[in-house]
Amino acid sequence: MIVYCLPPMEDLLRVDVVIIGAGPAGLGCSLSLRRRGVESVLVLEASSVGSSFAAWPKEMRMITPSFHANPFLQTDLNAIHPDTSPADLHGCEHPSGEQYAAYLQASVQHFTLPVKENQPVSSVHAITDGFRIETPELTIETPNVVWAGGEFSQPRIPEFEGAALCRHNSTIDSWDNLNGDGIIIIGGYESGMDAAFHLVERGKAVAVLSNGEPWLNDHPDPSESLSPYTRGRILDVLHRFPKKLALQGNSEVVRVTQNSDGYLVELANGKSYRTSVQPILATGFRSALTPVKNLFEWDNGQPVFTEQDQSTLHAGLFYSGPSLVQRLSKFCFIYKFRARFGVVAAAIAERLELNSDPIADEVARGFHITDLECCTDCECAIESTAPEFADVEVVD
Ligand SMILES: Cc1cc2nc3c(=O)[nH]c(=O)nc-3n(C[C@H](O)[C@H](O)[C@H](O)COP(=O)(O)OP(=O)(O)OC[C@H]3O[C@@H](n4cnc5c(N)ncnc54)[C@H](O)[C@@H]3O)c2cc1C
Repeated sequence: MIVYCLPPMEDLLRVDVVIIGAGPAGLGCSLSLRRRGVESVLVLEASSVGSSFAAWPKEMRMITPSFHANPFLQTDLNAIHPDTSPADLHGCEHPSGEQYAAYLQASVQHFTLPVKENQPVSSVHAITDGFRIETPELTIETPNVVWAGGEFSQPRIPEFEGAALCRHNSTIDSWDNLNGDGIIIIGGYESGMDAAFHLVERGKAVAVLSNGEPWLNDHPDPSESLSPYTRGRILDVLHRFPKKLALQGNSEVVRVTQNSDGYLVELANGKSYRTSVQPILATGFRSALTPVKNLFEWDNGQPVFTEQDQSTLHAGLFYSGPSLVQRLSKFCFIYKFRARFGVVAAAIAERLELNSDPIADEVARGFHITDLECCTDCECAIESTAPEFADVEVVD
């Protein structure tokens, strides 16, 4: 258990800020608060620092590249502080989940961040002058909460019949341990294509079934189109194993059933696939916010935030992480949501009647961005060669 600089434990603890979650979002906010001199901070972590990353399939790598160019004011895309770099720590461009978790743990140690592990927050209640937070061990009152609980604990299970018969890709520890051949992956964005790459590399035949054709998408927002890293890997396996990977776009799955032979996956267009291996769901994650859900306003399944990433219902309740949406800009990558660490920290400083002016270094390094029209980039499309899917029987 990592515990640094914690205030003495009493029956009822009072601190200026509680941050829930010790992933990149929670730790990044605590670092920004530190830079502003806000010291009465407690980070509560349900499990261990970086635990979401530690749970990734062993082979999975970060798609956003790491590169140590920090001294030239080009901070490593995956860094949570302008003076740190996962690339510098591990000497690689695409860290694994384990490596990124180790980077987060090293950051906690280096900056002596006030993290208490094994503290799952079970409830957050609004009280007269702030919030009351409960874990099995602690009761804490605070005027400021940053919810940074991430999404990894909330895999998105689609609503079609039989979805529960499938296996979400976040439950895979290593693709080496997936037995059988003729594998169906439902979902064709980053995690589906990552799974397809690793399985084809292991000699398996794979069909990726997707509502649209994400591999052809050249949307300017990198949240919407495949990363160059994944695109390159998929093109590579399509070239090396032309009969092993089928990318089946416009294939909406409507039902999965199981019998003694295996699984039948049926599509809206009337096609169906039979496979002996439990189909893989690569359908992403939901905006979680579980214990604080009712303290936020929701619109169309998305939490609503103020211009300072605060709840519109309860002043003092902030959000940091990938569920942030502002003016239709998504903040689903670390380099995006870290742009708001300074915004959240400045708003908390203002509430604590401290100096809330932007810190020049944070602004220069992209850790305090208020222009919310920033999510644009350009990507090229993969040419789908649509090779025949050899080992999964099509039963039309
Ligand atoms: C397979 C995969 C690959 C990805 N690749 C990339 C990539 O290449 N680049 C990139 O930028 N992003 C990537 N992402 C997205 C990135 O992982 C997330 O955006 C990031 O983890 C979000 O950070 P976070 O701190 O909000 O959440 P997390 O990293 O999930 O941290 C949240 C923490 O909160 C804790 N927590 C949750 N609930 C509670 C509670 N009730 N009480 C106390 N603690 C709680 C959790 O235990 C966890 O440690 C990827 C995601 C996945 C799943």
